[in-house]
Amino acid sequence: MTEITQAIDNTKKRIVDSARACGRNPADITLIAISKTRPASDIRHAFEHGQRFFGESYCQEAIDKIEALKDCAIEWHFIGPMQSNKTRLIAHHFDWVHSIDRLKIARRLSEQRPPQLTPLNICLQVNISGEDSKSGLTLDELLPTALSVNALPRLKLRGLMAIPAITKDTRQQLQTFAAVAAAQQQLITHGLELDTLSMGMSDDLEAAITAGATMVRVGTGIFGARG
Ligand SMILES: *Cc1c(COP(=O)(O)O)cnc(C)c1O
Repeated sequence: MTEITQAIDNTKKRIVDSARACGRNPADITLIAISKTRPASDIRHAFEHGQRFFGESYCQEAIDKIEALKDCAIEWHFIGPMQSNKTRLIAHHFDWVHSIDRLKIARRLSEQRPPQLTPLNICLQVNISGEDSKSGLTLDELLPTALSVNALPRLKLRGLMAIPAITKDTRQQLQTFAAVAAAQQQLITHGLELDTLSMGMSDDLEAAITAGATMVRVGTGIFGARG
């Protein structure tokens, strides 16, 4: 066992334990290994241990690794800030984008998604705690943006993503994640068919799972501290 494979097993155990503790099926929660800044060899190593879902934040770095790992059946998730001049590459190389916070970017992705690929899976990034991270839609912007994105032909709107301010206070964590889940329910009430809540990272995945997360994004908890 290497450190990375051991850490994947430990993270999976945390997911299973917290799902069981709140009466959820652990199979309903997907572990996304966040591999930004890590070499392709680390990703290959995790892949050979059975990990299939990887998340990247920086476009060019990600594309280089996707090319290097073409022989691996990896599902690639883009989770970083989006610039207009990067949408074409992202539309061509990724399976999911979690970080949509502007309709303009979503429109470009839809226009640029190649017709031979399945629609690009999308999560809207929501800013619930109004904290340090300036990105993310406010609750007021969420419904109109979701309805517009849902109508774009080459995208499939799947749900919401959140990056709450880091806190060790578990009650605070739970409260914020519950607010994201409530926002998702509100959208479902308006007729949107959503099945994904992307929330929870290395330090707060238990609270996120308790609140209903279906995808947790773990970087340092798998690959160690970023250098
Ligand atoms: C880096 C990053 C993560 C992973 O964070 P860790 O604390 O390393 O687990 C998750 N989500 C997003 C959006 C990130 O940028």
